[in-house]
Amino acid sequence: MSKHTTGLMPAELKTQSAQFQDRYKILQKLYDQLGRCRLKADAPRLKRMAIELELRVAKASASPQSYRFHMSVLLRDLLKEKGNFKKIKVAGKPVISSTKMTTGKHIDDTITRNKNYVMQKLADMLIDPKILEKHKYIMSRILPDDYIDNSEYANCERCNTKFKRTEIMLDTLCTYHPQKKIYNKDTKTHVFPCCGESTTSTSFMRLGCKKAEHHVFKNDSYPELRKISDFLKTSLIDGKENVLALDCEMAFTSKGFEMVRLTIVDFFTSKTLFDQIVEPFGEVIDLNTLFSGIHSEDMDKAVPYLDVMDRILTSDLINRNSILIGHGLENDLNVMRIIHQKIIDTAILFSVGRYKISLKNLTFETLSEKIQTGEHDSSQDAIATMNVIKKKIGVSINQVKWDV
Ligand SMILES: [Zn+2]
Ligand SMILES: [Zn+2]
Repeated sequence: MSKHTTGLMPAELKTQSAQFQDRYKILQKLYDQLGRCRLKADAPRLKRMAIELELRVAKASASPQSYRFHMSVLLRDLLKEKGNFKKIKVAGKPVISSTKMTTGKHIDDTITRNKNYVMQKLADMLIDPKILEKHKYIMSRILPDDYIDNSEYANCERCNTKFKRTEIMLDTLCTYHPQKKIYNKDTKTHVFPCCGESTTSTSFMRLGCKKAEHHVFKNDSYPELRKISDFLKTSLIDGKENVLALDCEMAFTSKGFEMVRLTIVDFFTSKTLFDQIVEPFGEVIDLNTLFSGIHSEDMDKAVPYLDVMDRILTSDLINRNSILIGHGLENDLNVMRIIHQKIIDTAILFSVGRYKISLKNLTFETLSEKIQTGEHDSSQDAIATMNVIKKKIGVSINQVKWDV
């Protein structure tokens, strides 16, 4: 599938015959099918056609079943008639002429100012807990039956050397590239952007342009994560329904990959409700400044993990009724050690194909905004993720007053 399909979203409807996620997936299929019809249309025009056709089917369908039925007929006929719209019907009605098709995006702003309407839209975007589990979200505190503790050794996240975890603070030599290699189409080689060295280089530099005294590792399984601190269930905390965007910055410590900063932003007011440097359990090895934006002097202001949890797991902030918005939020919730059910993850919702879209690209495609041009910033990332969702559901990103 081409990268152009990202940003392809079903048009707004007051009443939905089908779930947002179903409509979203089928729209991608429809776009692909139109692409195979050899129509004389560029990608943006094909997108508009797909959105318009999908909207017609959604409007004409009374139930998810009829929606799926009409859609399968449309997909079949498109291929059969090779995109000749004069012969194609949507829910029994002729499409007439493809040239008359518009973008189909008519958003009534009295609707999008209504908080209940927006809450409904957000509820439609919640991701099924089974899908969350597939994306490495920890959803329960049950140890797998077949769990064997083989955590004595770890492979270094930076240089891939195998080392004994208990010896992590002993001096050694870790040679690595701080940035991931990227493929250069012209020279057909992989190059490290940090130093320009290529993987085919014969120089010692190919092993890495940076040296450190310790190796580093990451934990991502529940049995490993709980050893440092067990997960807290938000289902035990009652409170008001709210919508929060959150993002963490992480660093390598003697105990793995840990949270060092947490930002929480309110969806309806765009206000930052919490932004704090967090003291990890382990000794800091690498603040990962290039990505975390955290410098060693920032750590003077750090607050211990348990104090942070006391302040955020409350009836006014994160509770069982909160909708949490994030990009690849499993990474954040796993370093926060939180089990939560109501999640909107933009990396799951808007990725097409096997590889997850980066927040940087998603933000650029959706909002035409550049983020992460230098060091990352959890405040900027939380706001960008929230604004992507606002844009996708047709809400102005500057809106702070709502009709209830
Ligand atoms: Zn390098
Ligand atoms: Zn290493």
